[in-house]
This record gives sequence, C-alpha cells and structure tokens, in this order.
Amino acid sequence: MDKKQELFLLYQYQEARRQLATCEEELTDPDRQKAIGILKGQVQKALNEVERLRKECGRLKMANHRLEDEYRDYEVQLRQLNANLYSGNISAPKELEQLQRRIAEYQKAKADREEAVLSQLYLLEAKEKELVLAQKKGDELQGQLVGAVDEEAKRVAVLQSRCARLTKEVSGLKAALPKELLEYYQRSAKALRGIAIIPIKENTCGYCHMIISTAVLAKIKKGNSGIIVCENCGRGLFEQK
Ligand SMILES: [Zn+2]
Repeated sequence: MDKKQELFLLYQYQEARRQLATCEEELTDPDRQKAIGILKGQVQKALNEVERLRKECGRLKMANHRLEDEYRDYEVQLRQLNANLYSGNISAPKELEQLQRRIAEYQKAKADREEAVLSQLYLLEAKEKELVLAQKKGDELQGQLVGAVDEEAKRVAVLQSRCARLTKEVSGLKAALPKELLEYYQRSAKALRGIAIIPIKENTCGYCHMIISTAVLAKIKKGNSGIIVCENCGRGLFEQK
C-alpha cells in the first residue's frame, strides 16, 4: 500500500468513526424518550379520569337505588295510613288530625324523593356521557402510545444493526492502519473535533477552504512525505482520487 492509499484508509477510518458516533447519538436520543414519557403520562391521566368517572357513576347509581327504596317505603306506609284513615276505626278528631298530618308529611317526603331521583338521573346521564368520551380519549391515547413505542423499537433496531456494522468497519480499518497514522489520528482527532484528515478540494483545504501553495500542493500530490497539514486549520491533507 502506498502512502496515498494509507492516508485514504485513515480518512475512511475517521469517517466510519464519525458515522458510528452519530449513530450512537441517535440511538440514545433523549427527545424521543421524553416524548414517549409525556405520552405515557397523558395515557395515565386519561385512565385516571375514566376511573374517577366510573366511580362517580357507580356512586350516583347507588344513591339513586337508595332514593328509590325510600320512595317505595313511603309508598307502602302511605297505603297503610290511608287504609287506616278509611277503615272507619278512627273517630276521635285529634287522632284523625294526627293521622292526616302524618299522611301529608309522608306525601311530601315521597314527592321529594321522586324529584331527587329525577335530578339524579339527569346527573347520571351527563356523567355517563362524560365517561364515554373519556374512555374514547383514553383509547386513542393508548393507541398513539402503542404506535410510538412500536415505531421507536423499529428505529432502535435499525440503528443498532447500523452501529454494529460500523463498529465492525471501524475495527477492520483500524487493524489495517499503519501504526504512525493511527497515532497521528489519536493525537489530533480530539483537538480537531474528530476531523484530523481531509481531502483537498480544487487546490484548497477541504475543511477550511484555505488555498494551498503550489509547493505544498506538489508534495501532497506526490504523496510520499507523510502527513502534510493545512497551515490554517491544522488538518492532514491528502489527494482523493
Ligand atoms: Zn484547512
């Protein structure tokens, strides 16, 4: 392998590493996890609301049963009181007056229960409608969450296989690199933000676009003097064919 090929190999190694870094970054994208977390929170909130409304409807139904029972009790008692009233057994005016007062009280109590049952039924109907809507919303959000989790799993699987492929590529290229080039890369990559070598582009540095002098250009093109760096940005230059 000649020097030019070696420099190109170093460039390939560098680019594979950069792709791997991007791939790893995408794999642990915190925004995606955050979005799923928010959706999970929304689903939980919707489920809580469904549960709250379900309990409230249950409570209203129970209250209604109780009112209906009371209504029926008053009805039974009124029947007995009326039977008593028309039995002909009551003759004392005071006793008669007492009985009539009780009948009036019970009639009012019965009417009150009836009214309460009706207004409770309206309330129950309204709450049941709310419950249906809340359940629909909960189902929709759950569907969205399942979709998002599924999509994320697919995305992660694609990226994981890509990262695995790039890891293999990086180690293959690393093994093929001459020691001094690898050392050069390891020494300078961090300071040069991961780009330690760059191909020249129309007689300029491919990174900072500084025009390269004819003498330096000739050396680069000849390609047997080791790494020649850009005078401006300090990156190794090579000619890509
Ligand atoms: Zn440069």
